[in-house]
Amino acid sequence: MNKAQAELEGVFPTRFPLTIDGELIQTLDRGQVINPATESVLADYPKASKHEFEAAIAAAKKAFGPWSRLTWGERQPLVSALADLIEERREDFIRLLTLEQGKPLAGAEWEIGGCIHWLREVAAQQLPESTHEVPGQKSVVSRHVPLGVVGAITPWNFPLLLAVWKIAPALLAGNTVVVKPSPYTPLCTLWFGELAQQVLPRGVLSVLAGGDELGQWLTEHPSVAKVAFTGSTATGRRVMQSAANNLKRVTLELGGNDPGIVLPEVENIEALAEKLFWAAFQNNAQFCVATKRLYIHESIYEPLSKALVAYAATVKVGNGSNPDTQLGPLQNRMQYEKVSDLLLDARTSGLSILCGGKPNTAGGYFVPVTLIDNPPDTSRCVVEEAFGPVLPLLKYSDIDEVIARANACEYGLAASVWGSNSEQAQAVAQRLEAGTVWINQAHIFSPQVPFGGHKQSGLGIENALEGLAEYTNVQTVMIPEG
Ligand code: NAD
Repeated sequence: MNKAQAELEGVFPTRFPLTIDGELIQTLDRGQVINPATESVLADYPKASKHEFEAAIAAAKKAFGPWSRLTWGERQPLVSALADLIEERREDFIRLLTLEQGKPLAGAEWEIGGCIHWLREVAAQQLPESTHEVPGQKSVVSRHVPLGVVGAITPWNFPLLLAVWKIAPALLAGNTVVVKPSPYTPLCTLWFGELAQQVLPRGVLSVLAGGDELGQWLTEHPSVAKVAFTGSTATGRRVMQSAANNLKRVTLELGGNDPGIVLPEVENIEALAEKLFWAAFQNNAQFCVATKRLYIHESIYEPLSKALVAYAATVKVGNGSNPDTQLGPLQNRMQYEKVSDLLLDARTSGLSILCGGKPNTAGGYFVPVTLIDNPPDTSRCVVEEAFGPVLPLLKYSDIDEVIARANACEYGLAASVWGSNSEQAQAVAQRLEAGTVWINQAHIFSPQVPFGGHKQSGLGIENALEGLAEYTNVQTVMIPEG
Protein backbone atom coordinates (compact mmCIF):
# COMPACT_ATOMS: atom_id res chain seq x y z
CA MET A 1 0.00 0.00 0.00
CA ASN A 2 1.43 3.41 -0.92
CA LYS A 3 1.14 6.59 1.17
CA ALA A 4 -1.81 8.03 -0.75
CA GLN A 5 -3.73 4.77 -0.47
CA ALA A 6 -2.96 4.63 3.24
CA GLU A 7 -4.44 8.10 3.59
CA LEU A 8 -7.66 6.89 2.00
CA GLU A 9 -8.06 4.02 4.46
CA GLY A 10 -10.48 4.68 7.26
CA VAL A 11 -11.40 8.18 6.08
CA PHE A 12 -13.08 7.74 2.74
CA PRO A 13 -15.18 4.82 1.58
CA THR A 14 -12.65 2.07 0.90
CA ARG A 15 -14.57 1.31 -2.27
CA PHE A 16 -16.15 4.31 -3.94
CA PRO A 17 -19.59 3.19 -5.23
CA LEU A 18 -21.80 4.04 -8.15
CA THR A 19 -25.19 5.28 -7.00
CA ILE A 20 -28.20 3.93 -8.88
CA ASP A 21 -31.80 4.20 -7.67
CA GLY A 22 -30.59 5.02 -4.17
CA GLU A 23 -28.40 1.87 -4.02
CA LEU A 24 -24.60 1.79 -3.71
CA ILE A 25 -23.25 -0.40 -6.49
CA GLN A 26 -19.88 -2.04 -7.11
CA THR A 27 -18.90 -3.59 -10.43
CA LEU A 28 -16.23 -6.07 -11.51
CA ASP A 29 -15.03 -3.77 -14.26
CA ARG A 30 -12.69 -1.32 -12.48
CA GLY A 31 -10.96 1.92 -13.42
CA GLN A 32 -7.93 3.35 -11.63
CA VAL A 33 -7.24 6.85 -10.35
CA ILE A 34 -3.59 7.87 -10.47
CA ASN A 35 -2.22 10.42 -8.00
CA PRO A 36 -0.64 12.88 -10.45
CA ALA A 37 2.02 14.02 -7.98
CA THR A 38 3.47 10.51 -7.59
CA GLU A 39 2.06 8.52 -10.54
CA SER A 40 1.04 5.79 -8.09
CA VAL A 41 -2.43 4.22 -8.02
CA LEU A 42 -4.61 6.09 -5.55
CA ALA A 43 -7.80 4.04 -5.70
CA ASP A 44 -9.90 2.00 -8.04
CA TYR A 45 -13.53 2.64 -8.83
CA PRO A 46 -16.45 0.79 -10.42
CA LYS A 47 -17.08 1.39 -14.11
CA ALA A 48 -20.71 1.37 -15.17
CA SER A 49 -21.70 -1.05 -17.92
CA LYS A 50 -24.55 -0.38 -20.34
CA HIS A 51 -26.76 -2.36 -17.97
CA GLU A 52 -25.98 -0.09 -14.96
CA PHE A 53 -26.36 2.95 -17.19
CA GLU A 54 -29.84 1.87 -18.31
CA ALA A 55 -30.79 1.17 -14.69
CA ALA A 56 -29.74 4.68 -13.64
CA ILE A 57 -31.72 6.28 -16.47
CA ALA A 58 -34.80 4.17 -15.67
CA ALA A 59 -34.56 5.14 -11.99
CA ALA A 60 -34.14 8.82 -12.87
CA LYS A 61 -37.17 8.62 -15.17
CA LYS A 62 -39.28 6.97 -12.46
CA ALA A 63 -38.16 9.46 -9.81
CA PHE A 64 -38.92 12.46 -12.05
CA GLY A 65 -42.72 12.40 -11.53
CA PRO A 66 -42.79 12.72 -7.73
CA TRP A 67 -39.70 14.96 -7.59
CA SER A 68 -41.04 17.39 -10.19
CA ARG A 69 -44.39 17.57 -8.38
CA LEU A 70 -42.77 18.86 -5.18
CA THR A 71 -42.98 22.62 -4.87
CA TRP A 72 -39.84 24.75 -5.20
CA GLY A 73 -40.18 25.41 -1.48
CA GLU A 74 -40.09 21.67 -0.77
CA ARG A 75 -37.05 21.03 -2.95
CA GLN A 76 -35.04 24.01 -1.69
CA PRO A 77 -34.11 22.56 1.75
CA LEU A 78 -33.11 19.25 0.17
CA VAL A 79 -30.71 20.97 -2.24
CA SER A 80 -29.36 23.05 0.63
CA ALA A 81 -28.92 19.90 2.74
CA LEU A 82 -26.46 18.65 0.12
CA ALA A 83 -24.20 21.54 1.14
CA ASP A 84 -24.34 20.38 4.77
CA LEU A 85 -23.22 16.89 3.74
CA ILE A 86 -20.09 18.30 2.11
CA GLU A 87 -19.49 20.73 4.97
CA GLU A 88 -19.58 17.94 7.56
CA ARG A 89 -16.74 16.20 5.70
CA ARG A 90 -15.11 19.35 4.36
CA GLU A 91 -11.52 18.54 5.37
CA ASP A 92 -11.77 15.01 3.96
CA PHE A 93 -13.17 16.30 0.66
CA ILE A 94 -10.29 18.78 0.46
CA ARG A 95 -7.69 16.04 1.03
CA LEU A 96 -9.35 13.68 -1.42
CA LEU A 97 -9.61 16.35 -4.10
CA THR A 98 -5.91 17.14 -3.77
CA LEU A 99 -5.00 13.46 -3.94
CA GLU A 100 -7.02 12.73 -7.05
CA GLN A 101 -6.70 16.03 -8.92
CA GLY A 102 -3.23 17.19 -7.85
CA LYS A 103 -4.18 20.76 -6.95
CA PRO A 104 -2.66 22.26 -3.79
CA LEU A 105 -4.68 22.09 -0.58
CA ALA A 106 -5.51 25.82 -0.80
CA GLY A 107 -6.97 25.29 -4.26
CA ALA A 108 -8.95 22.28 -3.06
CA GLU A 109 -10.25 24.36 -0.17
CA TRP A 110 -11.44 27.00 -2.65
CA GLU A 111 -13.21 24.39 -4.76
CA ILE A 112 -14.89 22.55 -1.87
CA GLY A 113 -15.87 25.86 -0.24
CA GLY A 114 -17.34 26.83 -3.62
CA CYS A 115 -19.42 23.64 -3.74
CA ILE A 116 -20.94 24.42 -0.33
CA HIS A 117 -21.56 28.06 -1.24
CA TRP A 118 -23.14 27.22 -4.63
CA LEU A 119 -25.47 24.56 -3.24
CA ARG A 120 -26.75 26.96 -0.57
CA GLU A 121 -27.05 30.01 -2.82
CA VAL A 122 -28.66 28.16 -5.71
CA ALA A 123 -31.10 26.51 -3.28
CA ALA A 124 -32.36 29.99 -2.40
CA GLN A 125 -33.07 30.91 -6.03
CA GLN A 126 -36.48 30.83 -7.64
CA LEU A 127 -37.89 31.44 -11.10
CA PRO A 128 -41.04 33.51 -10.70
CA GLU A 129 -44.12 33.18 -12.90
CA SER A 130 -44.74 36.08 -15.27
CA THR A 131 -48.13 37.47 -16.24
CA HIS A 132 -48.89 39.23 -19.51
CA GLU A 133 -51.57 41.70 -20.59
CA VAL A 134 -53.02 40.41 -23.87
CA PRO A 135 -56.17 41.87 -25.53
CA GLY A 136 -59.11 39.43 -25.29
CA GLN A 137 -57.39 37.36 -22.58
CA LYS A 138 -58.47 37.30 -18.95
CA SER A 139 -55.23 35.70 -17.79
CA VAL A 140 -51.92 34.81 -19.42
CA VAL A 141 -49.37 33.24 -17.09
CA SER A 142 -45.98 31.80 -18.02
CA ARG A 143 -44.12 29.51 -15.63
CA HIS A 144 -41.00 27.39 -15.66
CA VAL A 145 -41.47 23.62 -15.69
CA PRO A 146 -38.71 21.01 -15.39
CA LEU A 147 -37.39 19.09 -18.39
CA GLY A 148 -37.02 15.52 -17.12
CA VAL A 149 -33.78 13.55 -16.81
CA VAL A 150 -30.63 15.68 -17.05
CA GLY A 151 -27.24 14.18 -17.93
CA ALA A 152 -24.29 16.08 -16.43
CA ILE A 153 -20.82 15.46 -17.88
CA THR A 154 -17.77 17.02 -16.23
CA PRO A 155 -14.00 17.41 -16.84
CA TRP A 156 -11.04 16.80 -14.53
CA ASN A 157 -9.89 20.32 -13.63
CA PHE A 158 -12.62 21.30 -11.11
CA PRO A 159 -14.38 17.96 -10.81
CA LEU A 160 -16.76 18.52 -7.93
CA LEU A 161 -17.48 22.24 -8.38
CA LEU A 162 -18.42 21.84 -12.04
CA ALA A 163 -20.69 18.91 -11.11
CA VAL A 164 -22.36 21.05 -8.41
CA TRP A 165 -22.87 23.89 -10.92
CA LYS A 166 -25.12 21.46 -12.81
CA ILE A 167 -26.62 19.33 -10.04
CA ALA A 168 -27.87 22.23 -7.88
CA PRO A 169 -29.94 24.13 -10.49
CA ALA A 170 -31.11 20.95 -12.25
CA LEU A 171 -32.48 19.44 -9.03
CA LEU A 172 -33.92 22.70 -7.75
CA ALA A 173 -35.88 23.19 -10.97
CA GLY A 174 -37.40 19.72 -10.52
CA ASN A 175 -35.29 17.54 -12.80
CA THR A 176 -33.59 14.29 -11.88
CA VAL A 177 -29.89 13.96 -12.67
CA VAL A 178 -27.39 11.35 -13.82
CA VAL A 179 -23.81 12.60 -13.42
CA LYS A 180 -20.75 11.30 -15.23
CA PRO A 181 -17.43 12.64 -13.91
CA SER A 182 -14.17 12.46 -15.85
CA PRO A 183 -12.51 9.02 -15.67
CA TYR A 184 -9.39 10.81 -14.36
CA THR A 185 -11.14 12.34 -11.32
CA PRO A 186 -14.29 10.45 -10.36
CA LEU A 187 -13.72 9.98 -6.61
CA CYS A 188 -15.07 13.20 -5.03
CA THR A 189 -18.16 13.04 -7.24
CA LEU A 190 -18.80 9.37 -6.47
CA TRP A 191 -18.44 10.08 -2.76
CA PHE A 192 -20.78 13.06 -3.01
CA GLY A 193 -23.31 10.84 -4.82
CA GLU A 194 -23.08 8.31 -2.01
CA LEU A 195 -23.66 10.94 0.70
CA ALA A 196 -26.49 12.58 -1.25
CA GLN A 197 -28.60 9.43 -0.93
CA GLN A 198 -29.05 10.37 2.75
CA VAL A 199 -31.23 13.34 1.80
CA LEU A 200 -32.60 12.78 -1.69
CA PRO A 201 -35.36 10.37 -2.70
CA ARG A 202 -34.28 7.26 -4.64
CA GLY A 203 -33.25 7.83 -8.22
CA VAL A 204 -33.21 11.64 -8.02
CA LEU A 205 -29.42 11.80 -8.26
CA SER A 206 -27.26 8.97 -9.63
CA VAL A 207 -23.51 9.15 -10.16
CA LEU A 208 -21.94 6.79 -12.69
CA ALA A 209 -18.24 6.51 -13.44
CA GLY A 210 -16.80 5.22 -16.66
CA GLY A 211 -14.97 6.16 -19.82
CA ASP A 212 -15.88 8.50 -22.65
CA GLU A 213 -18.37 5.92 -24.01
CA LEU A 214 -20.54 6.50 -20.94
CA GLY A 215 -20.74 10.20 -21.86
CA GLN A 216 -21.72 9.22 -25.38
CA TRP A 217 -24.53 6.96 -24.06
CA LEU A 218 -25.89 9.88 -22.03
CA THR A 219 -25.93 12.19 -25.03
CA GLU A 220 -27.67 9.57 -27.20
CA HIS A 221 -30.30 8.26 -24.81
CA PRO A 222 -33.88 9.17 -25.83
CA SER A 223 -34.99 9.46 -22.18
CA VAL A 224 -32.41 12.15 -21.41
CA ALA A 225 -33.99 15.57 -21.92
CA LYS A 226 -30.90 17.72 -21.47
CA VAL A 227 -27.13 17.41 -21.37
CA ALA A 228 -25.12 19.87 -19.32
CA PHE A 229 -21.53 19.50 -20.43
CA THR A 230 -18.22 21.06 -19.45
CA GLY A 231 -15.15 20.00 -21.39
CA SER A 232 -13.26 20.59 -24.60
CA THR A 233 -14.72 22.25 -27.69
CA ALA A 234 -14.05 19.12 -29.77
CA THR A 235 -16.10 16.93 -27.42
CA GLY A 236 -18.74 19.66 -27.06
CA ARG A 237 -19.38 19.50 -30.81
CA ARG A 238 -19.85 15.73 -30.59
CA VAL A 239 -22.25 16.19 -27.66
CA MET A 240 -24.34 18.64 -29.65
CA GLN A 241 -24.46 16.40 -32.71
CA SER A 242 -25.53 13.42 -30.69
CA ALA A 243 -28.05 15.45 -28.65
CA ALA A 244 -29.74 16.59 -31.87
CA ASN A 245 -31.37 13.16 -32.30
CA ASN A 246 -34.17 13.93 -29.83
CA LEU A 247 -33.66 17.70 -29.63
CA LYS A 248 -32.07 17.50 -26.20
CA ARG A 249 -31.43 20.82 -24.59
CA VAL A 250 -27.70 21.42 -24.19
CA THR A 251 -25.55 23.73 -22.14
CA LEU A 252 -21.97 23.59 -23.32
CA GLU A 253 -19.12 25.17 -21.35
CA LEU A 254 -16.09 24.60 -23.56
CA GLY A 255 -12.50 25.63 -24.13
CA GLY A 256 -10.97 29.07 -23.97
CA ASN A 257 -7.83 30.92 -24.99
CA ASP A 258 -8.37 33.98 -22.84
CA PRO A 259 -6.47 37.18 -23.60
CA GLY A 260 -5.23 39.48 -20.85
CA ILE A 261 -4.44 43.04 -21.94
CA VAL A 262 -2.13 45.23 -19.88
CA LEU A 263 -2.67 48.90 -20.71
CA PRO A 264 0.22 51.41 -20.71
CA GLU A 265 -0.75 53.07 -17.44
CA VAL A 266 -0.16 50.76 -14.48
CA GLU A 267 0.79 51.57 -10.90
CA ASN A 268 2.95 49.00 -9.18
CA ILE A 269 4.65 46.63 -11.60
CA GLU A 270 5.63 44.04 -8.93
CA ALA A 271 2.14 43.88 -7.43
CA LEU A 272 0.64 43.66 -10.91
CA ALA A 273 3.01 40.83 -11.86
CA GLU A 274 1.81 38.76 -8.92
CA LYS A 275 -1.86 39.23 -9.90
CA LEU A 276 -1.16 38.47 -13.54
CA PHE A 277 0.80 35.38 -12.55
CA TRP A 278 -2.18 33.90 -10.72
CA ALA A 279 -4.60 34.97 -13.45
CA ALA A 280 -2.58 32.71 -15.73
CA PHE A 281 -1.35 29.91 -13.47
CA GLN A 282 -4.06 29.26 -10.85
CA ASN A 283 -4.86 25.51 -10.79
CA ASN A 284 -1.62 25.08 -12.73
CA ALA A 285 -3.30 26.82 -15.68
CA GLN A 286 -5.73 23.92 -16.04
CA PHE A 287 -8.49 26.45 -15.93
CA CYS A 288 -10.86 27.20 -18.80
CA VAL A 289 -10.64 30.90 -17.88
CA ALA A 290 -6.88 31.08 -17.26
CA THR A 291 -5.18 33.99 -18.99
CA LYS A 292 -3.59 32.14 -21.88
CA ARG A 293 -2.23 35.06 -23.95
CA LEU A 294 -0.87 38.11 -22.16
CA TYR A 295 -0.63 41.29 -24.25
CA ILE A 296 1.61 43.93 -22.64
CA HIS A 297 2.02 47.50 -23.89
CA GLU A 298 5.53 48.01 -25.28
CA SER A 299 6.22 50.88 -22.84
CA ILE A 300 6.15 48.48 -19.86
CA TYR A 301 6.94 45.16 -21.56
CA GLU A 302 10.54 44.88 -20.29
CA PRO A 303 9.97 45.67 -16.60
CA LEU A 304 6.74 43.66 -16.41
CA SER A 305 8.17 40.56 -18.09
CA LYS A 306 11.17 40.75 -15.72
CA ALA A 307 8.83 41.07 -12.72
CA LEU A 308 6.82 38.06 -13.91
CA VAL A 309 9.96 35.94 -14.22
CA ALA A 310 11.11 37.08 -10.77
CA TYR A 311 7.74 36.26 -9.20
CA ALA A 312 7.59 32.86 -10.94
CA ALA A 313 10.93 31.97 -9.30
CA THR A 314 9.37 32.41 -5.84
CA VAL A 315 6.43 30.04 -6.43
CA LYS A 316 6.67 26.64 -4.76
CA VAL A 317 5.85 23.77 -7.11
CA GLY A 318 5.33 20.29 -5.69
CA ASN A 319 3.01 17.67 -4.32
CA GLY A 320 -0.29 19.43 -3.58
CA SER A 321 -0.63 17.58 -0.27
CA ASN A 322 2.31 19.55 1.17
CA PRO A 323 0.78 22.62 2.84
CA ASP A 324 3.33 25.07 1.39
CA THR A 325 2.87 23.96 -2.23
CA GLN A 326 1.45 26.68 -4.47
CA LEU A 327 1.39 24.84 -7.81
CA GLY A 328 0.86 21.11 -8.22
CA PRO A 329 1.41 18.77 -11.15
CA LEU A 330 -0.70 18.52 -14.28
CA GLN A 331 -3.62 16.21 -13.67
CA ASN A 332 -2.86 13.32 -16.01
CA ARG A 333 -0.31 11.83 -18.37
CA MET A 334 -2.28 12.79 -21.49
CA GLN A 335 -2.20 16.45 -20.45
CA TYR A 336 1.48 16.22 -19.38
CA GLU A 337 2.38 14.88 -22.83
CA LYS A 338 0.28 17.49 -24.60
CA VAL A 339 1.97 20.36 -22.72
CA SER A 340 5.42 18.75 -23.09
CA ASP A 341 4.85 18.61 -26.84
CA LEU A 342 3.93 22.30 -26.86
CA LEU A 343 7.18 23.09 -25.03
CA LEU A 344 9.17 20.98 -27.48
CA ASP A 345 7.58 22.93 -30.31
CA ALA A 346 8.50 26.24 -28.62
CA ARG A 347 12.13 25.11 -28.20
CA THR A 348 12.53 23.71 -31.70
CA SER A 349 10.89 26.78 -33.24
CA GLY A 350 13.62 28.87 -31.60
CA LEU A 351 11.26 30.90 -29.42
CA SER A 352 12.86 32.88 -26.61
CA ILE A 353 11.97 31.16 -23.32
CA LEU A 354 12.28 33.40 -20.28
CA CYS A 355 11.87 30.64 -17.70
CA GLY A 356 10.92 26.94 -17.56
CA GLY A 357 10.70 25.22 -20.94
CA LYS A 358 11.50 21.60 -20.09
CA PRO A 359 9.14 19.14 -18.38
CA ASN A 360 10.27 17.27 -15.30
CA THR A 361 11.01 13.62 -16.03
CA ALA A 362 11.72 12.55 -12.45
CA GLY A 363 8.21 11.34 -11.55
CA GLY A 364 4.87 13.08 -11.23
CA TYR A 365 3.29 15.06 -14.06
CA PHE A 366 5.27 18.23 -13.34
CA VAL A 367 5.88 20.93 -15.94
CA PRO A 368 7.65 24.12 -14.85
CA VAL A 369 6.09 27.54 -15.22
CA THR A 370 7.12 28.65 -18.69
CA LEU A 371 7.05 32.25 -19.93
CA ILE A 372 7.68 32.81 -23.63
CA ASP A 373 9.07 36.11 -24.83
CA ASN A 374 7.02 37.78 -27.56
CA PRO A 375 6.45 34.80 -29.89
CA PRO A 376 4.76 35.34 -33.28
CA ASP A 377 0.93 35.38 -33.11
CA THR A 378 0.91 32.30 -35.32
CA SER A 379 3.01 30.14 -32.97
CA ARG A 380 1.34 27.13 -31.39
CA CYS A 381 1.76 28.47 -27.85
CA VAL A 382 -0.39 31.48 -28.82
CA VAL A 383 -2.96 29.77 -31.02
CA GLU A 384 -3.63 26.63 -28.94
CA GLU A 385 -5.26 26.30 -25.54
CA ALA A 386 -2.28 24.95 -23.57
CA PHE A 387 -4.25 24.00 -20.45
CA GLY A 388 -0.92 23.90 -18.66
CA PRO A 389 1.63 26.38 -17.28
CA VAL A 390 2.81 27.96 -20.55
CA LEU A 391 2.16 31.65 -21.08
CA PRO A 392 3.17 33.70 -24.13
CA LEU A 393 3.97 37.37 -23.34
CA LEU A 394 3.05 39.45 -26.38
CA LYS A 395 4.14 43.02 -27.05
CA TYR A 396 1.75 45.56 -28.57
CA SER A 397 1.87 49.27 -29.34
CA ASP A 398 -1.66 50.33 -30.26
CA ILE A 399 -5.05 49.71 -28.59
CA ASP A 400 -6.97 48.98 -31.80
CA GLU A 401 -4.24 46.57 -32.84
CA VAL A 402 -4.29 44.67 -29.54
CA ILE A 403 -8.09 44.39 -29.50
CA ALA A 404 -8.01 42.96 -33.01
CA ARG A 405 -5.31 40.45 -32.00
CA ALA A 406 -7.16 39.48 -28.82
CA ASN A 407 -10.36 38.88 -30.79
CA ALA A 408 -8.64 36.99 -33.61
CA CYS A 409 -9.41 33.69 -31.97
CA GLU A 410 -12.08 31.03 -32.35
CA TYR A 411 -12.74 31.07 -28.59
CA GLY A 412 -14.58 33.72 -26.58
CA LEU A 413 -14.79 32.48 -23.00
CA ALA A 414 -13.33 35.23 -20.78
CA ALA A 415 -10.76 38.03 -20.91
CA SER A 416 -9.14 40.53 -18.58
CA VAL A 417 -7.96 44.14 -18.85
CA TRP A 418 -5.36 45.60 -16.50
CA GLY A 419 -4.51 49.27 -15.94
CA SER A 420 -5.03 52.27 -13.71
CA ASN A 421 -7.11 54.21 -16.26
CA SER A 422 -10.50 52.77 -15.42
CA GLU A 423 -12.38 54.44 -18.30
CA GLN A 424 -9.91 53.15 -20.83
CA ALA A 425 -10.05 49.65 -19.30
CA GLN A 426 -13.85 49.62 -19.53
CA ALA A 427 -13.81 50.87 -23.10
CA VAL A 428 -11.42 48.06 -24.07
CA ALA A 429 -13.49 45.48 -22.14
CA GLN A 430 -16.61 46.36 -24.13
CA ARG A 431 -14.85 45.64 -27.40
CA LEU A 432 -13.63 42.16 -26.41
CA GLU A 433 -15.48 39.12 -27.75
CA ALA A 434 -15.82 37.17 -24.51
CA GLY A 435 -18.58 36.04 -22.16
CA THR A 436 -16.88 37.54 -19.09
CA VAL A 437 -14.36 40.38 -18.91
CA TRP A 438 -12.60 41.07 -15.62
CA ILE A 439 -10.92 44.42 -14.94
CA ASN A 440 -7.82 44.38 -12.71
CA GLN A 441 -8.79 40.93 -11.45
CA ALA A 442 -9.55 37.43 -12.70
CA HIS A 443 -11.58 34.31 -11.90
CA ILE A 444 -14.39 35.97 -9.96
CA PHE A 445 -17.50 33.77 -10.12
CA SER A 446 -20.79 33.93 -8.29
CA PRO A 447 -23.98 31.86 -8.22
CA GLN A 448 -25.75 35.16 -9.02
CA VAL A 449 -23.68 36.04 -12.11
CA PRO A 450 -24.29 34.44 -15.52
CA PHE A 451 -21.29 32.61 -16.97
CA GLY A 452 -21.04 31.37 -20.54
CA GLY A 453 -18.80 31.40 -23.58
CA HIS A 454 -19.11 33.25 -26.88
CA LYS A 455 -18.04 31.80 -30.23
CA GLN A 456 -16.52 28.29 -29.92
CA SER A 457 -16.34 28.51 -26.11
CA GLY A 458 -19.86 27.31 -25.58
CA LEU A 459 -23.56 27.57 -25.79
CA GLY A 460 -25.89 28.74 -23.05
CA ILE A 461 -25.33 29.97 -19.54
CA GLU A 462 -24.45 28.46 -16.19
CA ASN A 463 -25.23 30.18 -12.85
CA ALA A 464 -27.69 32.99 -12.09
CA LEU A 465 -31.37 32.86 -12.97
CA GLU A 466 -30.43 32.61 -16.65
CA GLY A 467 -28.56 29.38 -15.89
CA LEU A 468 -31.36 28.04 -13.71
CA ALA A 469 -33.88 28.75 -16.48
CA GLU A 470 -31.87 26.49 -18.82
CA TYR A 471 -33.05 23.53 -16.74
CA THR A 472 -36.68 24.36 -17.55
CA ASN A 473 -39.20 24.71 -20.34
CA VAL A 474 -41.54 27.67 -20.30
CA GLN A 475 -45.24 26.85 -20.21
CA THR A 476 -47.87 29.53 -20.82
CA VAL A 477 -51.51 29.07 -19.80
CA MET A 478 -54.04 31.41 -21.45
CA ILE A 479 -57.66 31.95 -20.36
CA PRO A 480 -59.97 34.05 -22.57
CA GLU A 481 -62.20 36.88 -21.36
CA GLY A 482 -65.94 36.31 -21.00
P1 NAD B 1 -12.98 16.40 -22.51
O1 NAD B 1 -13.85 17.09 -23.51
O2 NAD B 1 -11.95 15.47 -23.00
O3 NAD B 1 -13.87 15.55 -21.47
C1 NAD B 1 -14.89 16.14 -20.71
C2 NAD B 1 -15.88 15.05 -20.30
O4 NAD B 1 -16.53 14.55 -21.48
C3 NAD B 1 -15.25 13.84 -19.63
O5 NAD B 1 -16.11 13.39 -18.59
C4 NAD B 1 -15.19 12.81 -20.76
O6 NAD B 1 -15.17 11.47 -20.30
C5 NAD B 1 -16.48 13.13 -21.50
N1 NAD B 1 -16.51 12.70 -22.91
C6 NAD B 1 -15.48 12.42 -23.74
N2 NAD B 1 -15.94 12.08 -24.97
C7 NAD B 1 -17.29 12.18 -24.91
C8 NAD B 1 -18.35 12.00 -25.88
N3 NAD B 1 -18.09 11.65 -27.15
N4 NAD B 1 -19.61 12.22 -25.49
C9 NAD B 1 -19.89 12.62 -24.22
N5 NAD B 1 -18.95 12.78 -23.27
C10 NAD B 1 -17.66 12.58 -23.61
O7 NAD B 1 -12.35 17.58 -21.63
P2 NAD B 1 -11.27 17.47 -20.44
O8 NAD B 1 -9.95 17.16 -21.06
O9 NAD B 1 -11.79 16.60 -19.36
O10 NAD B 1 -11.27 18.98 -19.89
C11 NAD B 1 -10.48 19.99 -20.42
C12 NAD B 1 -11.27 20.92 -21.31
O11 NAD B 1 -12.41 21.40 -20.61
C13 NAD B 1 -10.51 22.16 -21.71
O12 NAD B 1 -10.71 22.44 -23.09
C14 NAD B 1 -11.13 23.28 -20.88
O13 NAD B 1 -11.01 24.57 -21.40
C15 NAD B 1 -12.54 22.81 -20.80
N6 NAD B 1 -13.20 23.40 -19.64
C16 NAD B 1 -14.16 24.35 -19.85
C17 NAD B 1 -14.78 24.97 -18.78
C18 NAD B 1 -15.83 26.02 -19.00
O14 NAD B 1 -16.57 26.32 -18.07
N7 NAD B 1 -15.96 26.60 -20.16
C19 NAD B 1 -14.44 24.61 -17.48
C20 NAD B 1 -13.46 23.63 -17.29
C21 NAD B 1 -12.86 23.03 -18.39
